[in-house]
Amino acid sequence: MKALDELIFDNRFARLGDAFSTHVLPEPLDNPRLVVASNAAMALLDLDPAVAETPLFADIFGGHKLWAEAEPRAMVYSGHQFGGYTPQLGDGRGLLLGEVYNQAGEHWDLHLKGAGQTPYSRMGDGRAVLRSSIREFLASEALHALGIPSSRALCVIGSDTPVWREKQERGAMVLRMAHSHIRFGHFEYFYYTKKPEQQKALAEHVLSLHYPECREQPEPYLAMFRAIVERNAELIAKWQAYGFCHGVMNTDNMSILGITFDFGPFAFLDDFDAHFICNHSDHEGRYSFSNQVPIGQWNLSALAQALTPFISVEALTEALGLYLPLYQANYLDLMRRRLGLTSAEDDDQKLVERLLKLMQNSGVDYTLFFRRLGDESAALAVAKLRDDFVDLAGFDAWAELYKARVARDGDYSEEQRRERMHAVNPLYILRNYLAQNAITAAESGDYSEVRRLHEVLSKPFEEQAGMEQYAQRPPDWGKHLEISCSS
Ligand code: AMP
Ligand code: MG
Repeated sequence: MKALDELIFDNRFARLGDAFSTHVLPEPLDNPRLVVASNAAMALLDLDPAVAETPLFADIFGGHKLWAEAEPRAMVYSGHQFGGYTPQLGDGRGLLLGEVYNQAGEHWDLHLKGAGQTPYSRMGDGRAVLRSSIREFLASEALHALGIPSSRALCVIGSDTPVWREKQERGAMVLRMAHSHIRFGHFEYFYYTKKPEQQKALAEHVLSLHYPECREQPEPYLAMFRAIVERNAELIAKWQAYGFCHGVMNTDNMSILGITFDFGPFAFLDDFDAHFICNHSDHEGRYSFSNQVPIGQWNLSALAQALTPFISVEALTEALGLYLPLYQANYLDLMRRRLGLTSAEDDDQKLVERLLKLMQNSGVDYTLFFRRLGDESAALAVAKLRDDFVDLAGFDAWAELYKARVARDGDYSEEQRRERMHAVNPLYILRNYLAQNAITAAESGDYSEVRRLHEVLSKPFEEQAGMEQYAQRPPDWGKHLEISCSS
């Protein structure tokens, strides 16, 4: 295990040069202190978890000190925001501090969000508030624990620095980790500014570092695009299966690695609602829960457009065509598992759709329904869950189909069924109201709730003694929380 000053840097993105990013130093926060750290993320850097409690840790991740080998850079990119093209975005408040590699030889970008103004801040103050930093931290680590690819979060550092949003709040920084911070919008930037050399250098960089297996293919760039399509189809299938709503699927928030990235007004569904819009400035519901599927494809076609200098339109179109079938296959596979099924039948998609329709009309808790379905035999479980539904006749008809389907599926014990289902159906998810409770306490200086919630969410499938309150439906006040889009 390493101490903080023993990290080993290899800043490959910085070496691409000034056309890709600008050297900027972090602007320190006043009186920085540790709010929460993730031991699991610390382990990815081989760091001893005890170092999180040292003053040096808060100094580094609060912007006061830097390793000599770090090369803090603000990256330039652009992107389509709510369907319209914005020619220049970039890291307006985050800095890529450098790339660290661990004993296993994995590289991790260290990205400090809330680190002050950069040439890409436009009108912004370069800061992030405590509330949004805590939300990003909790979501990244919770998604990872659910098996949903995501950027990771090492820590949140709080401070006394005043930051003005709708009201005065306090600045914080979150240290984000990913194998790459390159977005679809990076490719769009060099395409629309007509910089073919840089665009080629970027494509080579991504290919060599993140998709090396594609080099062996006859058309490496096309193979890489196909792999990006595949990863996004898999990612969005997981979001849909687990009820995660991203909220701001602009192409500058889409990772070239197909991981969940850039957390704003995201939400996990409480009651199932296909039309749920978590971003209340999204008036048309462009990024509503069910629209995430077609928007995933829309975003990939925006990336495809930016790759037209390298790949023929026909080949790109064909690769884009892989998205929907792949999405559907992945989604159905996950939903079968959530229903406890081990085999595949043609009508399974219909079984899932009928269930969701019944849930939609009844306000059934999406997470708890599946958890409870696995608690007992199919017959006993549906009998208990029945009361949650408004359309009882509809539910009974579905339950008969489900029980018959389970009977055809295989001969397994109740215990086997429970074990299998509980391994894919979480008991604990990051409900908005749970995050809000933790934030309210943290804003008054009590970080224990953020830490406890993070702990609980790090083992979402395991029932944890004394943690029943984290596995409840939201109280009335927590049902329709409006999460501020300012962050
Ligand atoms: P986001 O909505 O967080 O994905 O950010 C969109 C763009 O706005 C990115 O270029 C961000 O860096 C930039 N941005 C967001 N908030 C701020 C801020 N407070 N100060 C400077 N830039 C910001
Ligand atoms: Mg963003």
